[in-house]
Amino acid sequence: MKKIGAHFSIAGGVENAPLNAAAISAKAIAMFAKNQRQWNAKPYSEENILLFKKNCQTHHFNPQDIIPHDGYLINLGHPEKDKLQKSREAFLDEVRRCEQLGLTMLNFHPGSHLRQISEEDCLKIIADSLNLTLQKTCNVSMVIENTAGQGSNLGYRFEHLAAIIEMTEDKNRIGVCLDTCHTFTAGYDLKSRKSCKTVFDEFDKVVGFQFLKAMHLNDSKKPLGSRVDRHESIGKGEIGMEAFRYIMNDQRFDNIPMVLETPNSDIWEEEIKLLYRLEK
Ligand SMILES: [Zn+2]
Ligand SMILES: [Zn+2]
Repeated sequence: MKKIGAHFSIAGGVENAPLNAAAISAKAIAMFAKNQRQWNAKPYSEENILLFKKNCQTHHFNPQDIIPHDGYLINLGHPEKDKLQKSREAFLDEVRRCEQLGLTMLNFHPGSHLRQISEEDCLKIIADSLNLTLQKTCNVSMVIENTAGQGSNLGYRFEHLAAIIEMTEDKNRIGVCLDTCHTFTAGYDLKSRKSCKTVFDEFDKVVGFQFLKAMHLNDSKKPLGSRVDRHESIGKGEIGMEAFRYIMNDQRFDNIPMVLETPNSDIWEEEIKLLYRLEK
């Protein structure tokens, strides 16, 4: 069974995400655990936590249907010690928030070398960051998102994801989230059924579908290999419908949250229906 949803707002309280999702009949939820553009946020109140759990229960969202996303300021591969420390503390806070909500995953962007260190050194720092966080927490899996490779962001090759996984100590709590827009602009062609098969078979070989915990379903405003991250509504961009038809009919994408981060939230309900219609 496919679980399609979108990235929902937590404005007014984290408990609103499941309500916003239920309002458009979504079956999966992505959300920020806190304001994504600030380092600090006040802790959840008891009420936030209780209402979040109650709203999830009422609307039949299980923890495995929900994938929170970490804040944009965090860089787990930061080349400078003090800034790396700040990122690691903020990341730990995000994982603890997931634990408080009874959730089991946190999606994050791997990190950036800022052209100060090599890709290899940066991947090692990222893995160290994950190992430190794994030691201090339990139950929450850290889900690495692939990137478009804009600027000095790592994670644009499947090999980067594999290298990070390889260096982590508790692989049961490491996962991967593939974003279709990022995959495509990083240089993996998803335009045809045949090219999709090639790309996802390569993913299986390099990383392994057993690590796939979530998908971000986005079309792309920018062309194949452009290394630029600009999402477009489903079927309206450079990727086109075939990739989404492929994903909706491949069992390897069953039972994981697959969420839209497409630009026009007014049509999310229609986009979700459109995706379900692609199932044969
Ligand atoms: Zn994404
Ligand atoms: Zn993106």
